[in-house]
Amino acid sequence: MLAIAGYPLGLRFAVLDPAEDACAFQLAEALHGEYDDRTLVERLAGRADVVTYEFENVSADSSGYLAQHVPMYPSPEALTLKQDRWAEKQLFEQLEIPTAPTRAVETHTELDAAADALGFPLILKTRSYGYDGKGQARAETREELATVLDEFEGVPLIAEKCIAFKREVSIVAVRGLNGEVAFYDIAENVHHEGILRSTRNRSEDPVADTAHDYVQRLMDRLDYVGVLALELFDVDGQLLANEFAPRVHNSGHWTIEGAETSQFENHLRAILGMPLGATASVGPTAMLNCIGQLPDTAAVLALPGAHYHRYDKEPRPRRKVGHITLRAETPDKLEASVAAVEKLLD
Ligand code: ADP
Ligand code: MG
Repeated sequence: MLAIAGYPLGLRFAVLDPAEDACAFQLAEALHGEYDDRTLVERLAGRADVVTYEFENVSADSSGYLAQHVPMYPSPEALTLKQDRWAEKQLFEQLEIPTAPTRAVETHTELDAAADALGFPLILKTRSYGYDGKGQARAETREELATVLDEFEGVPLIAEKCIAFKREVSIVAVRGLNGEVAFYDIAENVHHEGILRSTRNRSEDPVADTAHDYVQRLMDRLDYVGVLALELFDVDGQLLANEFAPRVHNSGHWTIEGAETSQFENHLRAILGMPLGATASVGPTAMLNCIGQLPDTAAVLALPGAHYHRYDKEPRPRRKVGHITLRAETPDKLEASVAAVEKLLD
């Protein structure tokens, strides 16, 4: 999606990806191999005027090497911080951004102490490598807690209080090389089993100002360049930060058709030091993920205001293989289209 956004601006791409069938290879020079394959990383550094990433588990070794040889945005610091959920929580704390009460745990004793302090249900997350609900478990009782810890086989974890939120929202923002910041509409997100299912933009949202303030603190602290998403729990109007993503984000996919300038184009503009594009939305928009399977193309395209993005990835359970954006004149019409797409996705 970054490459698709960049071609009209005259940009060309080389992509390093461990997947043989990476969909970006159709649009870009393919560097097929592991993220820590030094030969490929060197080739990438040699080919590129600027490097970015849209996946967080790139080794510090590779990102450090790249950043030494070619401008790399967002910085390796943002990436490294994001690779440890405990470091991430501590950063939120330093910036006085409220979060769910959390403890770092490795042993049964530490976990018991965390349960005493935080209560049940308790959510356990691996400090590193989790995404789309992977590397997470929920424990309702002490017995479950012990089993869950054993299943994680000694990897460092965080234990989080389970938050009874009213809704989940995210704020996608972009910061340019000159420090200029622009915000997209608040995205209201529905997750199921830890995976994002749908997003709707909310143009006039009561939590927008607070969300802007939090994301601005984060970006300023990281001297951030590019698009960043901050996921938040809305607990009756109070926001708790869940996690941030130092990259373009699934809850910003709606901006391709739903905003004046997409998150992808704005990320490229930012990392190239170009003026940012307007982030205003063009109306009520919803984005629905296709998970594990793709509905029939003609059936999707028959729906008014529907835009279909098929990623050409092999369908597997719980894998995001495409998304559908819906636009409508009014929120009511939008919800009617959402219901129609949900039927297709069933
Ligand atoms: P990732 O997106 O990297 O898999 P998250 O921490 O965002 O990990 O968790 C995925 C989803 O699980 C969240 O969007 C939310 O729906 C749910 N979740 C995570 N942490 C909590 C929590 N402390 N309380 C309630 N729900 C949570
Ligand atoms: Mg998340």
